[in-house]
Amino acid sequence: MLVFTKVSDLQQWLAAQRQSGKTVGFAPTMGALHTGHLSLVYAAKSECDMAVASIFVNPSQFNDPKDLEKYPRMPEQDIALLTGAGCDALFMPPVAEVYPPGRDLSVTLDFRQLDQVMEGKFRPGHFAGMATVVKRLLDIVQPDRLYMGQKDFQQLTIVRDMLRQLKSPVELVMCPTAREPDGLAMSSRNLRLSSQMRAAAPAIYQILMAAKTVFEHETADTVQKLAMEQLLVAGLRPEYFDLVDGYSLLPVTHRSSSDFIVACVAVWAGDVRLIDNLVLKP
Ligand code: AMP
Repeated sequence: MLVFTKVSDLQQWLAAQRQSGKTVGFAPTMGALHTGHLSLVYAAKSECDMAVASIFVNPSQFNDPKDLEKYPRMPEQDIALLTGAGCDALFMPPVAEVYPPGRDLSVTLDFRQLDQVMEGKFRPGHFAGMATVVKRLLDIVQPDRLYMGQKDFQQLTIVRDMLRQLKSPVELVMCPTAREPDGLAMSSRNLRLSSQMRAAAPAIYQILMAAKTVFEHETADTVQKLAMEQLLVAGLRPEYFDLVDGYSLLPVTHRSSSDFIVACVAVWAGDVRLIDNLVLKP
């Protein structure tokens, strides 16, 4: 696997690939890689000629400086994992390559309610930072396909909207959430869970699964209240448990309200914030 730290070197290599007719699949990440990240690389590898990953802990999407500071970083291990997964190239730039001093690259698109609900309420500025870095990375890599995880469902919905607004030719591919054997969604943040919180955290998925069953005959309001109570009982501190339309992210009231309903949840497990989601009505 080739490792690039400079935009110009990566672009030179990418130009040569495109010249020989190769398609490129791109999986942007913030590192501390796990099987969920690697599943994006496998998908890219199986559908495109070249799989390119990036590792960049994007300062502009952290609304809490402590969260940025504590974000796990393990470049050597990540390089070994990506190499093992058959990734062709890794882009691991310093901040100044992504945000050259003096250039304002911020994305100021109007995402309507998409970036206001759920994570948007609890992490002000997060999605503006995320959209800015994804747009910048797409401008650099210019992939044919972009691979993102369902795990960050709201993020993916906003990126889909951004690509539509920009009339981008990039095809967005959603990869299913990879889970630990006990159901906990894989996340780089899981490394920071205390043993007590690691034991409590699988309740998130169990409660999502229970919500799916209860929603077959109860209203969204009842499902939400029950889930919030169950999360508290499990020793977690929920921020939200919302049942939303999978495209508009607006709350639904009943099963009949939409053809595509997703339950999205955010909790604090001690001092670690975790998110997850489950499609209740596909
Ligand atoms: P991150 O490094 O957390 O920014 O995530 C980079 C990409 O990996 C995003 O598209 C995430 O949605 C995706 N991802 C993270 N965790 C998982 C998971 N457990 N399963 C599938 N994709 C994931």
